[in-house]
Amino acid sequence: MNKILAVDDAQDTLLLLEFDLQAEGYDVITAKDGETALVLLEQHDIDLVLLDLYMPGLSGLDTLKKLKSQSKHLNTPVIMLSASDDENQIVSALELGANDYITKPYIPKVLLARLKTSLRLLEKTLKLESLAKTDFLTNVNNKRNFENLAIASIKQMCRTNNNVTIAMLDIDYFKSVNDNYGHDVGNEVLKLFASTMKKEFRQYDIIGRVGGEEFAVCMPNTNLKEGFNACERFRKVIESLEVAISHEKISFTVSIGLASVCHNEGHYDFNSLMKVADKFLYQAKETSRNCTRSYDEIHNQEHDVVQTFLANNIDQDTLNGESAIDGIDFEIGVNNVLGDEALFKDILQMFFDDHSNDSDKIQQAIAEHDQASMKHLVHTLKGVACSVGAMQLFDNAKKLDAAVNEEQVGKYQSLFDDVSFELNRVINGIIGYLKITQ
Ligand code: GH3
Ligand code: MG
Ligand code: MG
Repeated sequence: MNKILAVDDAQDTLLLLEFDLQAEGYDVITAKDGETALVLLEQHDIDLVLLDLYMPGLSGLDTLKKLKSQSKHLNTPVIMLSASDDENQIVSALELGANDYITKPYIPKVLLARLKTSLRLLEKTLKLESLAKTDFLTNVNNKRNFENLAIASIKQMCRTNNNVTIAMLDIDYFKSVNDNYGHDVGNEVLKLFASTMKKEFRQYDIIGRVGGEEFAVCMPNTNLKEGFNACERFRKVIESLEVAISHEKISFTVSIGLASVCHNEGHYDFNSLMKVADKFLYQAKETSRNCTRSYDEIHNQEHDVVQTFLANNIDQDTLNGESAIDGIDFEIGVNNVLGDEALFKDILQMFFDDHSNDSDKIQQAIAEHDQASMKHLVHTLKGVACSVGAMQLFDNAKKLDAAVNEEQVGKYQSLFDDVSFELNRVINGIIGYLKITQ
């Protein structure tokens, strides 16, 4: 049942409208002035407004202007009611977005016919809008709408200091599904994939088809670890699905790449997140497919050594043995180089060669108020600390890096002291581990 809001200062007109419209099966609520109408519009889901042009207080035109300035009511049809046919006022109302007008005293039949037309038009508009936003095959958001919704969500999460995670998902060897079973079966697989996404991800996660067999999900209020877990859960569900086609059952898998914005790093935009997610998707394809890959610090993408794999296929053997380095999480460091312990040793040596004097350099930059050098030194140290698994140093450098970016000069020294302390610990840890003689 459509809900109509009738607004008129004349009580008798309101009563008549209510009577005529209810007789036709409409749900009617009434307001005797513009102010009340705007309040009711907030409280109810109104499908159409009948609005008197001449009212004391907020006029019909003013009420219309306020109504149309709210995005929620942009599509709400409004039919103006006017006592005379004052052309100028009516033209203004139509220019402001009113759909139609009726002169009073109105003829019920005519009013009802125009009302029906406006409502039908609304239905069509909404349908067209939804078609323009939806992928015709899978019924999830199309690429453009996914982008719009994800951009809005990322902005909101950044504003409210929350995490947001984006995942890119690409069906593995999908071409061979088409080649072996035909395009129609391929389409069924795509539909099943999309409906499984809808079922497995949360209701307010934003799901989209962003390519032929590529999908994406934007998860608001979700940090990397939570997003990773959600994707892994989904990946396993997909792995276990079977599509029955005539005499056989086929199964398929998906590769997933993730990127995340931490709540305190809120200035990343949609495109950089997608780029990172895509990069990890590529890594997932390169290594084994049917897996999820991610890394949480977009900054450090500049340092190509950084590849933190949170995935499941870490070679546990490489993690055992002599693995204690003060200040360094050995497991993280080794995973960053795909478990290659010899390479990790080389990287520790490079870290030692390049960064053991960083404390002196940063201290000097602080003393000389050399903002540019500060920025470069701290940012680089932060990146490499993460890549060798020096997580406390990474954390301390990250705080100093943030202060430098915001030029909070008063904080430099004390944050630097923390960095220096931790860097010293890490360097000594490396010296012990690599048995470096000085
Ligand atoms: P990979 O594991 O590397 O992702 O391999 P792949 O075969 O999945 O990827 P590739 O990009 O080589 O092939 C994607 C295929 O998806 C090719 C294309 O014909 C098919 N495709 C794209 N859109 C549709 C569609 O709407 N319906 C069907 N049935 N197939 C589609
Ligand atoms: Mg592809
Ligand atoms: Mg594919």
